[in-house]
Amino acid sequence: MRLAVYPGTFDPVTTGHIDIAARASKLFDQVVVAVYDRPSKNLLFTTEERLSMMREAIKHLPNVTADSYGGLTVEYARRHGAEVIVRGLRMVSDFELEFQMALMNRKLAPELDLICLMTSLEYSFLSSSIVKEIAALGGCVDGLVPSHVIPLLKSKLTEGRG
Ligand code: ADP
Repeated sequence: MRLAVYPGTFDPVTTGHIDIAARASKLFDQVVVAVYDRPSKNLLFTTEERLSMMREAIKHLPNVTADSYGGLTVEYARRHGAEVIVRGLRMVSDFELEFQMALMNRKLAPELDLICLMTSLEYSFLSSSIVKEIAALGGCVDGLVPSHVIPLLKSKLTEGRG
């Protein structure tokens, strides 16, 4: 069985992330979307919230599951017997960081490979940060995030102001 791990912060999950997860699900027997449990400084949502939004967003993809993890991504991938780490590429600017991370990960875990999947054109401008910025300014985020994320985003931003 070929297993891939798709790691990220997903603060919150966007339709661009789901596009990558769906593409990966066609290439691998099993895909684990791994929500990085990093200190919530600068993050809007807690790890539990990010994981629960992700679980809801991928439930239409039968061979995709979500989990959270801390520490090194390569260690997480190893523990789960993954062969591949999947990342998404939007623009050339993403490539530089992914390339650097891939080479470092290869040094740490030579048996693991990184596969970068290109996003669809309509998601190439989309990021969690831009979604948060638009929502904070009262803009419409329909289609940019899965529909169940919209009310959570709104209430989180209101809570922040309260
Ligand atoms: P990280 O903090 O690990 O970059 P993100 O949640 O921002 O976490 O992104 C996770 C992965 O998804 C990264 O590989 C990123 O390049 C990719 N990604 C983010 N937004 C998009 C998008 N709109 N289309 C395709 N891939 C994306």
